[in-house]
Amino acid sequence: MCKHEFVFSQGCGANICQGCGLHAHLSFEDGSITQELARCWCGWSYTGGNGRSELWELGEDIEDLMGDDSWLESDYEQSLESWYEQVNDI
Ligand SMILES: [Zn+2]
Ligand SMILES: [Zn+2]
Repeated sequence: MCKHEFVFSQGCGANICQGCGLHAHLSFEDGSITQELARCWCGWSYTGGNGRSELWELGEDIEDLMGDDSWLESDYEQSLESWYEQVNDI
């Protein structure tokens, strides 16, 4: 079992365990877990799936996140394109 060592992530807005990746909200008073998250926009999911697509399917309100995420999408597509180029060269 993981003892959970949480570090706050600005991108996720949650505390993330360095050992197992668990996302949680912690008590400001004693650091105890007040809420364990099931999935996150960074792609993490408690079940090991894709947290982002799970949130999409759940229809989460993402309006205030769209602006921040758009550059991530284009960055991902660019890296995918360069990967394809490398494959074609072989
Ligand atoms: Zn942990
Ligand atoms: Zn996250």
